[in-house]
Amino acid sequence: MTTTTQRSTREWQAADAAHYLHPFTDFKSLAAKGTRVITRGDNIYLWDSEGQKILDGMSGLWCVNVGYGQQDLIDAATTQLKTLPFYNSFFQTTTPPAIELSELLAEVTPPQFQHVFFAGSGSEGNDTIVRMVRRYWDVLGQPQRKVIISRNNAYHGSTLAGGSLGGMSGIHAQGGVIPDIVHIEQPFFFEHGRQSRSFEDFGLEAASWLDRKITEIGADKVAAFIGEPVQGAGGVIVPPASYWPEIQRICDKHGVLLVSDEVICGFGRTGQWFGCETFGFRPDLMTFAKGVTSGYIPLGGVMVGERVARVLVDQGGEFNHGYTYSGHPVACAVALANIRFIQREGVVERVRNELGPYLAKRFAELNEHPLVGETQTCGMMGAVQLVKDKASRTVFDSSLEVGMVCRGHCFGNGLIMRAVGDRMIVAPPLVMTLAQVDEMIGLIHQCLDLTLADLKHRGWL
Ligand SMILES: *Cc1c(COP(=O)(O)O)cnc(C)c1O
Repeated sequence: MTTTTQRSTREWQAADAAHYLHPFTDFKSLAAKGTRVITRGDNIYLWDSEGQKILDGMSGLWCVNVGYGQQDLIDAATTQLKTLPFYNSFFQTTTPPAIELSELLAEVTPPQFQHVFFAGSGSEGNDTIVRMVRRYWDVLGQPQRKVIISRNNAYHGSTLAGGSLGGMSGIHAQGGVIPDIVHIEQPFFFEHGRQSRSFEDFGLEAASWLDRKITEIGADKVAAFIGEPVQGAGGVIVPPASYWPEIQRICDKHGVLLVSDEVICGFGRTGQWFGCETFGFRPDLMTFAKGVTSGYIPLGGVMVGERVARVLVDQGGEFNHGYTYSGHPVACAVALANIRFIQREGVVERVRNELGPYLAKRFAELNEHPLVGETQTCGMMGAVQLVKDKASRTVFDSSLEVGMVCRGHCFGNGLIMRAVGDRMIVAPPLVMTLAQVDEMIGLIHQCLDLTLADLKHRGWL
């Protein structure tokens, strides 16, 4: 414990309720219920203030990819804190960790990326994207090219620009949106693909919605298209293999910039270094955050491809944008240690060749459970769609919040699994053993059984 006091769970909860407004939380109902106090982490496990051990199936919040307690990252932070805890990059200055991380990112990202702009988070990275793509078209003398196209149910963060890019109505409804951002429908087969002949046909159909939208707006007004290779917070929605190459073709046809939000998919989660490599497309810009430091310390940013970099560097003049913590030396030092760990331990290859295929196999078996309508995985991400009736794929009334019921059983039973509506999702650390995958699947089975019994008891089945 790094806090100065030892308190009982009740005392922690009371102080939390009195002063701490949690993100994406109904403050009043949480205060009434009492929050869970997480006090320690090691490898893929967490412990709460009651001493209960929990398997962290969500890697914190999609970020603790190398697991808790990795000494390399701890040492990197400690050493850098002692050497130089902060200096900025604003006034023609820089620091060794920021330089070395820029160099290493250019090495591990696809070849078109030779430049990076640092931010403090994924949301800030996406704010940078909005300013950067609009600046790009301004410099090229096409200032009318302002519109950015995104997708419904996308998540791109929660600042005003990030929330506007995202496609979540609950976010749009609170605080409004910035202009010139429009959304097309997501490539979610379970919800929108029932009429399609096949999964792959649906991918082409979903991509065609972008072509239609660009034509409707006028290509000369469209700056960029942004998407997550696999939608994460939207529910681990894995698109058909046909989707992204077709999106690429459509962007190329119209000269529209293609942006891959790699905040979740980056740094090995999908079994390649970046999700765009798994899905076979070539973005002009990539947002990253989360896994870049395995969440040990905040860092985000934008990889800038040569198409954009050449314009901004050669013709752009001063770019009036940046953050106090752009290139923060401690964050960059931790990222360096994290990426070197991933390289040295062969984490990406292991996700691709061993862990990902094993998770896919074990998730497919969950389809036999009476509550499960479909499962999807991609690398070390998985989704389980809960349904009321398996044969007809009838879903539950959303007001019942069946996903939250299931999530409650998981939490009570020592497993962190997230609920997105009635889609239960995992994104566990990339350093699991196969035995730990089995342990997680065993817990998921138990939680599904507990949920089934509970729903019957409530008379909802
Ligand atoms: C988490 C997330 C963000 C926002 O990152 P923050 O660090 O929370 O600001 C952006 N895009 C995607 C795809 C994310 O999952």
